[in-house]
Amino acid sequence: MTPTAEQVLDVRGLTVSTGGLDLVSDIGFRVGPGERVGLIGESGSGKSLTAAAVLGLLPDGLRATGSVRLTGVELLGASERALSAVRGRRMTTVFQEPMTALNPSMRVVDQVAEVMLVHRTRPDRRSARAAAVELLAGVRLPDPVEAGRAYPHQLSGGQRQRVLLAIALANDPELLICDEPTTALDVRVQAQVLDLIRGASAALLFITHDLAVVASVCDRVLVMYGGRLVEAGPVAEIFRRPRHPYTRGLLDASDLDSTDERGRLRTIPGSVPAAGAFPEGCVFRTRCAGADDDCVDLPPWTGTPEAGTACWHPLGAPDVRA
Ligand code: SF4
Repeated sequence: MTPTAEQVLDVRGLTVSTGGLDLVSDIGFRVGPGERVGLIGESGSGKSLTAAAVLGLLPDGLRATGSVRLTGVELLGASERALSAVRGRRMTTVFQEPMTALNPSMRVVDQVAEVMLVHRTRPDRRSARAAAVELLAGVRLPDPVEAGRAYPHQLSGGQRQRVLLAIALANDPELLICDEPTTALDVRVQAQVLDLIRGASAALLFITHDLAVVASVCDRVLVMYGGRLVEAGPVAEIFRRPRHPYTRGLLDASDLDSTDERGRLRTIPGSVPAAGAFPEGCVFRTRCAGADDDCVDLPPWTGTPEAGTACWHPLGAPDVRA
C-alpha cells in the first residue's frame, strides 16, 4: 500500500461482481477532506454494496475490482490484516441497527474504550475509559458516566446509535461512512443524531434513501441506480435542477405536496429490477418516460467526477452525442 494523493476517498472504476454478473458497475467518485457526500437511490440500487466494497466487507462470493484509495493508499486487494488496521481507525462506520454492531454482553463505555485500545490510540485502559466517557458526553448521552455502565439492551435505540457514533469517532477517523444511520429512529432523535454527524470533522459518505436527510447533512450528492452512478453534483444544484430523469423521479416521489394529474402522490413507474437484471444500455431505460433508441447504448458520463450525469437526453440540457 503506497500513499499518493490528497483526496480522503478516491474510488475509480469500482465494479462488484458475482459469477460473471456485475452488481455495481464502474463507479467513480471522490470525497475531499471534511466534505459531506450523500449517496442516494432506491433499495437495490447498489449503495450499500458500494459502501461494503469501500470498507472491504463484501459478503463471500462477491468480488470487487477497480481502485479504492483512502488518502492515496490503495485498499482494494490489501490484506485483511492491513484493512483491519484501517477500519475502526482511519475509516469508520455507523449502520442502521446498532444492536448488531454492539456487543450485547459488554458495558458500552468498555466498547468505546476497546476500539481505542485495539488501535493503540490510548496508552492504557484507564485513559481509554476516561476518553470514552468524554466521547459519550460528546455525543450528548445523558449522564455519560452512568450510561457508560449500561449494557446495550438497557439503552434506547437513539442512545445506542449515539454510542455507535462515539465508537466511530473515537479514533478521530479521516472518513466516516454512515449507512441509513437514522432510519430506525423517531424524528426528534433522528434530528439530534444528524446534528452530531454534521458536527464531526471527518469526511463523510452518507448513504440513505431519504432526500430530506441528504439536504440537511450533505454538500454534494451521488445518485445511484442499477449499480451505476447516474448523477452527481452539489446538493443545492441537483435538488433544484436535476439533469437525470431518475433523480427527477426520486425528487418528485419524495415531495408530499406534489401529485399527478389524477391527484395521486408521484412515484417512479415500475420497480427496481433484481440485482444483475438491469437492461443493457441505460440502466434506467425500462422506467424512463424519455427513453428512445439512443438509450439502447450505455450513456457516457458527461461533466466532471464531482458534477455530471450519465444520460443521452439530460433534462434542461442539450442531448449528448455519441
Ligand atoms: S439515457 Fe435515455 S433512458 Fe436513460 S435516463 Fe436518459 S433519457 Fe432516460
